[in-house]
This record gives sequence, structure tokens and C-alpha cells, in this order.
Amino acid sequence: MTYRRLPDNLPAILRNHGIEVIEIPGWRTRGRPASTGEFKPVGVLCHHTGSYDRLGDTADDTAYAEWLAKEGRADLPAPLAHLALSRGGVVFVLASGRANHAGRAKSSGTVAAGDGNALYIGIEAMNDGKQGWDTRQYQTYAKLCAVLSLKVTHNSVRTVRGHKETSTTGKWDPGRIDMNAFRELTLKKMNQIRAEASFAERARIRMGGLTRSVRDAFGRLGTRRATSPGEELESEPTS
Ligand SMILES: [Zn+2]
Repeated sequence: MTYRRLPDNLPAILRNHGIEVIEIPGWRTRGRPASTGEFKPVGVLCHHTGSYDRLGDTADDTAYAEWLAKEGRADLPAPLAHLALSRGGVVFVLASGRANHAGRAKSSGTVAAGDGNALYIGIEAMNDGKQGWDTRQYQTYAKLCAVLSLKVTHNSVRTVRGHKETSTTGKWDPGRIDMNAFRELTLKKMNQIRAEASFAERARIRMGGLTRSVRDAFGRLGTRRATSPGEELESEPTS
């Protein structure tokens, strides 16, 4: 019996990658009880909510996110996902534990068949599946999957799946998304994030060395100043 939680600092991780985040209060302790099953996510599952979403109606998006997090349906108790994504590309954080979004999952990509609610982090994109995808929503969807794969599941893009790929009951979400093209975009974003991280790491090492040599130079300067006060003006740094 394994019951994990999404990391407490998930909103900070997402914001660090340029994603706008709204936290639904209580998300850190929200989830289906362990008595209902495990939560040990190895992949990310993409859904659409099935309801038309208007662009830029934050109050409506927030109300919908609250419903997904806290209310759910009579036949399917909340939380109904871990994350929700508005048409404008805002990510709502709903829950950290097991959520009712996947049902039984058939084997897909590199994820084995099993209890989908244990195997996947669930994202509900606010979209009826027919209205198409605003660029912000589509790009943020791929970015979100990239960050979750790199920072939370630590698995390859082949663990990012659409509900229509895992469903055993004929679900068709997310509608109007070609999951192979979506994974290609997600992989591109994963590679960008990796490249930025390694650039930042190289820069940090270089700056560390630079800081050390500047400190050494000033240390020598300080010594010289103490012994040769007449040189002080000429030794002043120029920038
Ligand atoms: Zn679904």
C-alpha cells in the first residue's frame, strides 16, 4: 500500500517555469482516503472537462476549479483531478493525494495497465473537446506536463498520456488533441528546461569562480592598500 502526495512546493515549481498558478485552499491535504486505493503516480493523464470554457472569465474558472476539488458528482466524489487548466492558461492546484479522474487504465506508452487513479497525476483542461485550443492553453498544457515529468514523476514523455489512450470505457478526451504531436511538443519543452538548467548550472560555476578571483584580487588590493596608502586612488575599481 503506497500513498504519496504531490510536493508541497508544487506551486513554486510551476511558477519557476513561468506558469500562472492559483491554489485552491486545502489542496495540500486533499485527496481520496487511502481506504479507497493507492497513489503512486508514474505518469500524467490529460483530460478535458467537457464544458465549454470562455476565455478570461477567472471567476467562472475558479468556481469550476473549486467544484472539481471539493464537490464532484453524486456518482464520483471529489477531488476529480490534481490540476485544472483554464482556456487562458492558468493552472489551478486542487489536490495532492489520490483523485477520481482515470478509472481503470489499459497499458499505454510505458505505463502498465492498472488503477489509473493510482498511476497518474490528473489534469482537467477546461474545454468541451470541440471548441479547439487557445494557444495559451495548449502551450501551457504541454509545459505543465513537461515540468511534472521532470520534477515530480521523473519519467519520460512516454508516460504522458491522454485519457482516450488509457480508457477502458471509450472516453475521447482530450478532444481535438493529437497526443503524438502533443508529446513531441512536451518533449521539446522538457529539453528546453534541461538545457536552461544546465546553462544556469554552468553559469553558477563560472560565477562562483569569478567571485572567488575577484575576492582574491580585492584581498591582495586590501593588503597593498594597508601597506601602500599612496596607491589607493589608482587602484579604485572602474565599475
Ligand atoms: Zn477524462
